[in-house]
Amino acid sequence: MIKPDAVTDGFSGPIIQQIEDAGFRIVAIKKTKLSPEDAGRFYAVHAERPFFQSLCDYMSSSHIIPMVLEKENAVEEFRTLIGSTNPAQAAEGTIRKRFARSLESNAIHGSDSDENAAIESNFFFTEQELNG
Ligand code: ATP
Ligand code: MG
Repeated sequence: MIKPDAVTDGFSGPIIQQIEDAGFRIVAIKKTKLSPEDAGRFYAVHAERPFFQSLCDYMSSSHIIPMVLEKENAVEEFRTLIGSTNPAQAAEGTIRKRFARSLESNAIHGSDSDENAAIESNFFFTEQELNG
């Protein structure tokens, strides 16, 4: 998911280019907006963290671009491509290093397991959109 800061900053194009150049195939994609409640459901695992309310406000502040991507070993390779959560600590050339504003506004989300990738795909897309 390209997050609100990167969409607002006009980085959707170069981010998608970098994703495709790295060998990922786009299965589904759209531009949409989350309500604060949607954002809370998406990041429910972080509900007890001190940054949760701020994260939900940020994630619902503007448009996002969710995508379902396909590649061998996709979860691990995508997390390498996006870099560390904190862009200040992200490796040179990673998406967060290149395009993120801050620890919270960090440009992009990547699923952390195949199981969560399936759950998050169904959060944003219908069966028909995923298989069409
Ligand atoms: P994501 O799940 O978005 O791919 P991640 O797995 O690298 O990111 P998580 O620990 O799952 O990191 O945190 C989810 C998101 O919450 C981060 O991407 C960031 O936007 C925000 N976040 C994480 N830690 C902090 C923090 N200490 N302060 C503010 N925001 C934070
Ligand atoms: Mg995470």
